[in-house]
Amino acid sequence: MNNSTSSTKRPTRVYDCFSDHDIGTVHGGGGGSRTKTGGPHLDAVYKEIMQKKEALFDRFGYIHIPYCSMRCKYCGFYKYSISSAHIDRFVELLCVQLKNTAGFPYTKTAPFKGFYFGGGTPTALDVSQLKRILTILNRDYAFADDREITIESTVRELNDQKISLFKEHGVERLSIGVQTFNDEIRSYLGRKTSGLEVESFLKKLRKKEFTVAIDLIYGLPGQTMDSWIEDIKRFIDLGIDGISLYFLRIFPQSPLKKEIDKGKTPLMVETSEKMEMFLWARDYLFQNCFRQIGADHFGRNHERNEYLLATYHNSDIFPFGMGAGGKVDHLSFFNTLDFNRYEKMISAGNTPAMGGFIKDDDAVYMDYLNGQILTGCCDLSKIDRMFQKNTLEIFKDLIEELENKGLLSIQGDLIILTGWGCCWHSHVNTEFGKAYDRRFHSSEEAFDLTCSGESLAPHHPMIGHRSHTQ
Ligand code: SF4
Repeated sequence: MNNSTSSTKRPTRVYDCFSDHDIGTVHGGGGGSRTKTGGPHLDAVYKEIMQKKEALFDRFGYIHIPYCSMRCKYCGFYKYSISSAHIDRFVELLCVQLKNTAGFPYTKTAPFKGFYFGGGTPTALDVSQLKRILTILNRDYAFADDREITIESTVRELNDQKISLFKEHGVERLSIGVQTFNDEIRSYLGRKTSGLEVESFLKKLRKKEFTVAIDLIYGLPGQTMDSWIEDIKRFIDLGIDGISLYFLRIFPQSPLKKEIDKGKTPLMVETSEKMEMFLWARDYLFQNCFRQIGADHFGRNHERNEYLLATYHNSDIFPFGMGAGGKVDHLSFFNTLDFNRYEKMISAGNTPAMGGFIKDDDAVYMDYLNGQILTGCCDLSKIDRMFQKNTLEIFKDLIEELENKGLLSIQGDLIILTGWGCCWHSHVNTEFGKAYDRRFHSSEEAFDLTCSGESLAPHHPMIGHRSHTQ
């Protein structure tokens, strides 16, 4: 998508459409019927699917490593320190899960398009732990020729040994949590490396021929439009391939929230200014040959971000590790984040899921539609052909409403998210889900996002790609 898709219609307070200070809601999408499942029933459904010898969807693997070497100030999902006593045991159990899953007929029906390591900080694991995991992937899983294995990391956690290991084991892409190059803000966030050190490290990765993507956050305490513009320009000058622009979310359980409540933070950025930051960056990226891959992700050169695309295309995403979320066939589920439960379930030969739901065909349609909207340019003729629907007719009123609010536009059979729409993408999708349910499932109760006493895992397709950043 290029600049011409940016709407010139900019309501002065578009965020009045939704709730203030809540751009990045965690529940985008929905719609259709989803039957809740858990415990032995979920395990039985999973095992039945895994005996199938045919697959309807492309497949990807997601490995969640919920360990971090430090707690980020804004983090609402911190779970385990890398010095936890059970880290070795976790790696052992994860390897068992990977090996067991590889043995099912369903896993063998088609090659994987890739794997994504998220967290936490996957590279907080040591070289031998990472090597064990990568060896199993390369040995036990069949991959497509154009596979993409991505590992998330911070600058601090990557050393030469790990970089060589990744090269040797076919890791093509590194996603680095930078957040900002600004030293003052980095220091406030507790980052140990300076902006200059980050830049030289990214240049080094580029020389080693990895595809490199970074995350930047807008709305950080003390950030200004000028410092944000400088961040984006410094990124552009590095010549690297991909970037995600994340809105700072204030999670209730984060250290940052506590500091805000005590009035201890540098000046916070107003919501309207955050939106201007996003829009400025998006326009500037387009001017510098970036294309939009997702509502908040942009790429040029070699950047593909196959994992993100897999979530948009309703692909199967096999979830591995504590806290991972994914889907196989029509079953979406999320693994427990609790180490003891994870150990017990894997040791018993069960899937370590804490809960999930079985989607009917309407829910599959809605997930696909929501995913395509998140690409920023959704081709309805393709979707209508695939699902035998008339999407424009189904959502006529909502589309008109969202067009009037300047969040999207219709061009022929395309739904185009405007810059504002990209900013509010989760809400746009939620509105589509609600509209569908109002029309076809009005008697259904709203889907409950909690299961077995644990809240929805951070890395679940219902939440979307990375609900938090490193
Ligand atoms: S944001 Fe990610 S890396 Fe930082 S503490 Fe939270 S889980 Fe760990």
